[in-house]
Formats: sequence, structure tokens, C-alpha cells
Amino acid sequence: MKVAVVTGANKGLGFGIVRGLCKRFDGDVILTARNESRGKEAIQTLEKEGLHPKFHQLDITDHDSIVRLRDYLQNTYQGLDVLVNNAAIAYQFNGSVAPPYPEEVREVCHTNYFSVVDVCQVLFPLLRPHARVCNVSSVSCHESFYGCSTVVQNRIKNAMHTIEDVNQLIRDFVEAAQKDQAEKFGFDRFPYGMSKVGISLMSAIQQKTFDQTGAEDIIVNCCDVGAGGWVATDMTNHYGVSVDKGALNPLFCALLPPNVDGPKGKFLYDEEEYDW
Ligand code: NDP
Repeated sequence: MKVAVVTGANKGLGFGIVRGLCKRFDGDVILTARNESRGKEAIQTLEKEGLHPKFHQLDITDHDSIVRLRDYLQNTYQGLDVLVNNAAIAYQFNGSVAPPYPEEVREVCHTNYFSVVDVCQVLFPLLRPHARVCNVSSVSCHESFYGCSTVVQNRIKNAMHTIEDVNQLIRDFVEAAQKDQAEKFGFDRFPYGMSKVGISLMSAIQQKTFDQTGAEDIIVNCCDVGAGGWVATDMTNHYGVSVDKGALNPLFCALLPPNVDGPKGKFLYDEEEYDW
């Protein structure tokens, strides 16, 4: 039995991705959420639509929670076929009050970048041949890249060879932000965009690593929602297209057929490669 996992799927885009996978993926779909009752409510909503996702708790910032999911997948499915890293936070777009800037940067980078690295490190050993990984990024990474100094842009373009290189880049940003000196050190100020710079860089390196280690047709891509860049969710104060429309581009990544030539390690926007 094949299995797909979507993180942060009790609402918003992740919920739309689960709905789409339930209709189009040939296997079990695991809707994960950090909060069990919110996750189970989402399952009930989809059950009423005649869809049958399964639930598993996952807080991506909690390493033990990731390990529990890994053990469940290992024991129940002996592998993993689709992973959609969707869960993230942002303060900018919905008028919610952010904590003080240094704390906001720590929290956003910890959730949106370092926790996703952790999820990948724990779950990737389960990936089977032909597995597909979709890391949900954002065109905000493009804006943050151009918000960085030339020196940092060159570092991003030329010195990101390993996940540790990316970790160090994001750590340097977080550290500079602790003294409110992100711009002084050449970084864009926007933590959400910088965290997505990390996700986009990470995705390309993950693909390169799979290729170098001879993994059999495992494909990693990252993507924006496409569709104009805005999906109506709590994150955007419900501005934008429906979650089902926003889910199309992530679903394209997650459902790339076996043995396709590409895209691999790319950033996808409306199912097209986008040079961010
Ligand atoms: P929402 O805020 O609507 O949903 C975010 C989801 O992530 C929720 O289910 C939330 O759970 C979950 N989440 C947050 N933190 C954690 C955590 N620590 N562990 C597990 N789950 C967590 O946002 P969207 O649906 O809009 O965003 C989904 C993805 O799409 C994000 O990666 C975002 O960056 C990306 N994106 C969204 C765009 C848009 O226009 N909406 C545009 C471009 C990219 P809870 O309910 O418990 O808070």
C-alpha cells in the first residue's frame, strides 16, 4: 500500500492538498496536524465528502512527534511515497500581531525552515523508489533574495552546496536579527521570505543528493501555490483563490509520474519552472 503524508493539513492549503490527493493518489493519504482535535475535525469534513484520509499527529517543531510519525509509517506501510512539507507560519499577511522582531525571526525560521529540515532528515530514509517530495515554498523567497545585499546574493547563488551551508545562512540571518542588524549584515529583513529562501535552496540540494547517491527516481521540488500567488487561507486573511485551486501546483509536484525526466530540484509556479 502506497502512502502520502501532508504536514499542517487541518486547514488551508494543506487541507486542499489532502483533498486533492484523496481524489488522485493511489494509496492512503495521511492528514497530519499539530493539534489532534483540529486534525480530526478536518478528517470528519472530508469524510462527509466521501473521502477517507487517515489522521496522524505531527508538530513539525517537535522532534519526538516527527519520530512517532516515522515509526507509525515504518510499522504500517514500511515506507513513504509522497511527502508534502506544507506546514508554516507567517505574521505579515493577515494582520496578526507579531512578537518582537528578534523573536519573530527565531520562531518563523525555526518552524518554516529548521523544522522542515528535521522532518526531511527523519522521514527521508523511508522514501521508496519513485517517491515524490514537495516542499511548499513561496515567491516571497524571490523578493527576499533581491532584498539581500550583493554579497549575500552571491553567497546564496554560489556557496550553497550542502544542507549545512543553508543551515548556516539561515542561522546567520537569525543571529543578525537578534541584534536587529539583519540589514547591516546584508540580509533581507523579512523572516518569512528568508525562511522560504532556505526551503528553495534546500530542495535543490536534496535532489542533488538523491541523484548523487543513486536513489531510484526520487524527485524533490519546491513550489509556490501559483494561481496569482495568493490562496484564501487564515495566513492571507482569506485573500486569494480557493485552496483547491492553490493545491494544483503542489499536487503537480506530488503526483509527478514514475520515471519522468523532470522537473527535479526546481521551484515550480503554475506547473512551470520558475527561476527565483
Ligand atoms: P495556514 O495558516 O492557513 O495553515 C498553516 C497550516 O500549518 C495549519 O494547518 C497550521 O496548523 C500548520 N502549522 C503551523 N505550525 C505548525 C507546526 N509547528 N506543526 C505542524 N503544523 C503546523 O497557511 P496556508 O495554508 O496559507 O499555508 C500553507 C503553506 O503554503 C505554507 O507553507 C505557506 O508558506 C505556503 N504558501 C501560502 C500562500 C497563500 O497564499 N496562502 C502563498 C504561498 C505559499 P494550526 O491550525 O495548528 O495552526
